[in-house]
Amino acid sequence: MSDRTVTSLTNPTVKAVRALHLRKERDETGLFVAEGLKIVTEAIETGHAPAILMYGAEATTHPLLRQAMAATRAGGGEVIEVTQEILAKVSRRDNPQAVVGVFHQVFMPLEALAPSAAPCFVALHRVRDPGNLGTIVRTADAAGCGAVILVGECCDPFSVEAVRATMGSVFAVPIVRATEEAFAAWRARWPGSVIGTLLTATMAHHQATYAKPALVFMGNEQQGLTPEMAALCDVNVKIPMRGRADSLNLSVATGVMIYAATA
Ligand code: SAM
Repeated sequence: MSDRTVTSLTNPTVKAVRALHLRKERDETGLFVAEGLKIVTEAIETGHAPAILMYGAEATTHPLLRQAMAATRAGGGEVIEVTQEILAKVSRRDNPQAVVGVFHQVFMPLEALAPSAAPCFVALHRVRDPGNLGTIVRTADAAGCGAVILVGECCDPFSVEAVRATMGSVFAVPIVRATEEAFAAWRARWPGSVIGTLLTATMAHHQATYAKPALVFMGNEQQGLTPEMAALCDVNVKIPMRGRADSLNLSVATGVMIYAATA
């Protein structure tokens, strides 16, 4: 079944996969880890075969595992049966998923984005929290957005935490990185509305015109959208705050904005 069986935590492949918890290792290798047979299957269905497929004995009878094994081999990857202990270390979880895939990271270049491909795109300025980022990628997928654009220094969309929060959408939504300068130059050619989000805005989000394709621009969890980034927008809006909370969580606010822009 497997190409080989590994039982030692000191096996070089196991050590290399465990090291992918570090951003430095992910950046250097261009690889990342995604856990669970459902997500691995999702990846394969969207054209991303694992470079390494690890599985535990309990998964061996699952029909989807056979498909995943075949797709991994067809893509030149390796299939390894491992122990529960190794799965736990690789996932850093006491109750790990029985299947773990190692994949190549894909970033789409900013210039390769086709604005006509979707009614809405999402840009995030200096997003810091991997759970927020993963949830936003999942929401962007659910709403049919064309891409999530990471502007400036952001957290890693391929960290284990971010990938978990995407629930597989990391393979479905193009992810783009851009410096603030590159984004500003590219945004100048955007054919639809660019809508920023500011807690100080006077216009409510439902009063804005979202000319398609709409580009929704969200700010950092602590600082919000900086004045320089807000100035790049056609309009800045606020989601009305009716209780005592002074702001929404970034991923919740992004969900509200995406659905307003695609209504
Ligand atoms: N202290 C920050 C500030 O003053 O902007 C709070 C940032 S908020 C937690 C993070 C991001 O979520 C904001 O930059 C904005 O993009 C979005 N956001 C949160 N609440 C919002 C609201 N009521 N209206 C519009 N955007 C909101």
